[in-house]
Amino acid sequence: MTNTTLFLTDERTFWHCTGVQALFFPIGDWVEPPSGSYGADTPASKRRMLNLVRVSGLDKHLEERSATPATREDLLRIHPASYIDEFKRLSDAGGGELGLYAPFSKGGFEIATLSAGLAIEALDAVVTGRARNSYALCRPAGHHCLANEPMGFCLLANIPIAIDTIKARHGVGKVAVVDWDVHHGNGTQSIFYDRGDVLTISIHQDRCFPPGYTGHDDRGEGEGLGANLNVPLPAGSGHETYLQALDRVVIPALQRYQPDLIVVASGLDANAADPLARQMLHSDSYRAMTERMVAVADELCGGRLAVIHEGGYSEAYVPFCGLALLEALSGVRTEVVDPELGFFVPQQPDERMLKFHFELIEEMRAGAGL
Ligand code: ZN
Repeated sequence: MTNTTLFLTDERTFWHCTGVQALFFPIGDWVEPPSGSYGADTPASKRRMLNLVRVSGLDKHLEERSATPATREDLLRIHPASYIDEFKRLSDAGGGELGLYAPFSKGGFEIATLSAGLAIEALDAVVTGRARNSYALCRPAGHHCLANEPMGFCLLANIPIAIDTIKARHGVGKVAVVDWDVHHGNGTQSIFYDRGDVLTISIHQDRCFPPGYTGHDDRGEGEGLGANLNVPLPAGSGHETYLQALDRVVIPALQRYQPDLIVVASGLDANAADPLARQMLHSDSYRAMTERMVAVADELCGGRLAVIHEGGYSEAYVPFCGLALLEALSGVRTEVVDPELGFFVPQQPDERMLKFHFELIEEMRAGAGL
């Protein structure tokens, strides 16, 4: 088996365009068009992350390439033909919107199938031993997309499509998804809610998105009962709280489930500078979280770990979080120094607040029977 970290990216995914918005609110009525930028989900955070991977020299230690788009057959494993056809028709007609906060422009369908294709290849390469682990810089993201409805910048369910495609190709048994995007992984949860062969875990800012959703007692149903877990954390949670949530809930849940493959739905929007959430992580947080995922994958499933890019909207800070994550994944440390660490570390919650956070985490651990 190779020891490579596969890094999947494609310039065309940066050409996906959500039209003119202020953050994610359509302009008009009382919403003034923003100056300069055209919304939250611009390519800038991803492109700048890719640029930092290259100027740091980390790319020399990765196998970097693109992948083929997901086929219609791949999409049909998750999405009904009616949704695929309507998305394609509107995309050809110039673009539009088919769900809550999920706009796209002409050609958005083809770019979304390419983004899903990057996720498929990330999983396939790991499962077949062509890479030790992998990272797919997907855009548009996927974890809010429901089977029949896009949502929250997500147009196709990248990870579910990838999981069911590699299951069909290679007969992979149990897969665990750890979603640490700051927003709830509602699409992935809903798609696998009644299935026991995929464990879905979401760590998210409580009630952030979908607005008002917590999910601490949603455990799955039918054959999926017990194979869904949510860890909603209060706004203002930082480095220690996230690591505690991994150590006390997420990793024990993975050890109980014994997956054959671990997939991380990696939003980088729980960082302290993100405009669409209010958490306090920094680059060393993503480094430490990834190191834990690498270790638990080594312990449980021969190191098989695929990381799929989800959200992250701070153009300035996503690159440092993404680079730290890739360094942990590949085991290569570049000489890049995160200039913002000295600003974000002193802002972390103190002992008094951590006590409160840790009590909540123990409550969730007990609720999950761990
Ligand atoms: Zn997000």
